[in-house]
Amino acid sequence: MSVWITGGGAAAVALVALIAFVVLVTQPLTAPAPPGAEDAGQQPIDVGIQPKYAPIPELDLQSHPLYTLAPPATSACPKPELKPESSDSWEAFTAEVGPCLDDIWLPLLQQELGLRPPPLDYNVVSQAPPENSTDLDEVLAYYSSEDNSINFVLTNIRRYSARLPQANEPGVWLALFGHEYAHYIQRHTTILDLSAKQEQDATEDKALEFSRRTELQADCLGAASLRALDLYDSEQAQRINTTFNAGGHSTTHGSAANARHWFTTGWNTDELADCNTFAAEAALVS
Ligand SMILES: [Zn+2]
Repeated sequence: MSVWITGGGAAAVALVALIAFVVLVTQPLTAPAPPGAEDAGQQPIDVGIQPKYAPIPELDLQSHPLYTLAPPATSACPKPELKPESSDSWEAFTAEVGPCLDDIWLPLLQQELGLRPPPLDYNVVSQAPPENSTDLDEVLAYYSSEDNSINFVLTNIRRYSARLPQANEPGVWLALFGHEYAHYIQRHTTILDLSAKQEQDATEDKALEFSRRTELQADCLGAASLRALDLYDSEQAQRINTTFNAGGHSTTHGSAANARHWFTTGWNTDELADCNTFAAEAALVS
């Protein structure tokens, strides 16, 4: 995604994905044991609860069950206030917006896909984690699958906000929130895991392409979230899109033009298949 003044900013969110991917490699999603697994000598134990991850057969990035869903319905949420420079304000913002996004997405994921993702944690942090060589000064937020959290990087947000007066519009930060929340959806629908595996096995160029497909899908799903929050009309959404995706080209996140394209697609979607960036032509994920 690209709430970045410079192209380097877009690279920042790459960190998000990379963190997620690294963790996914070491902590693969648990899935119910396949039929016949009890032959290994362990009796299955009925603990009276549904598995956290329902079996979704033959998962594939291009024909994933997520794409069979309609976009989330609107949810009645008050327009949140945010002072981007204030840590306390971010705490209140996440406490207000997080449950709204849960209301929008979690019933849909449960009813249609049988998924019950664990609740997110939200943190306001001063710095992005240093595990990566990406330009850490540009990271505004990141999703960590290690602890299933969305983290807002206050130091960088303050700098970004001071440079860009339009960033005082909460919609810009809701777009950022929606993008990170989309990584949470991707993680628990296994899309992050599937994409990470593809990246592992690919050439460097192909790996970057999978990164861009993942990130641009987050832009698309994030815009669907913003639409469902029902706080802005289409004209306002396009202004948010222009501000949010004003960065330059990023090899990990795609061009600003493509980021705007996928935001617009997600805003207008009537089926999440529209957000299938993994089946999109190469020019739309460059
Ligand atoms: Zn991202």
